[in-house]
Amino acid sequence: MRSWRSDRSPCRRALRDLQTYLDGEADRDTSWRVARHLSRCEDCFGDADTIRAIKDAVARLRVAPDAGALVRLRRLLDTLPEPDAAP
Ligand SMILES: [Zn+2]
Repeated sequence: MRSWRSDRSPCRRALRDLQTYLDGEADRDTSWRVARHLSRCEDCFGDADTIRAIKDAVARLRVAPDAGALVRLRRLLDTLPEPDAAP
């Protein structure tokens, strides 16, 4: 399958390293290369922005679990009848 960016190998390389870069786990050369590409390529910059927003949203969900929801869930489970042992 041929993607719309398949003829632009700098984009493919940048996108391949983007995840590592956004995780802060890319080495110095890779970080530099991705950052430079993002500063010059509007398409990849947009992709990076989207991925960053998704990662931020997921991180927020992990950092701040809804304690109230957990309490309500436990209360709800307490109101349920015990399951029958015999089918
Ligand atoms: Zn690009």
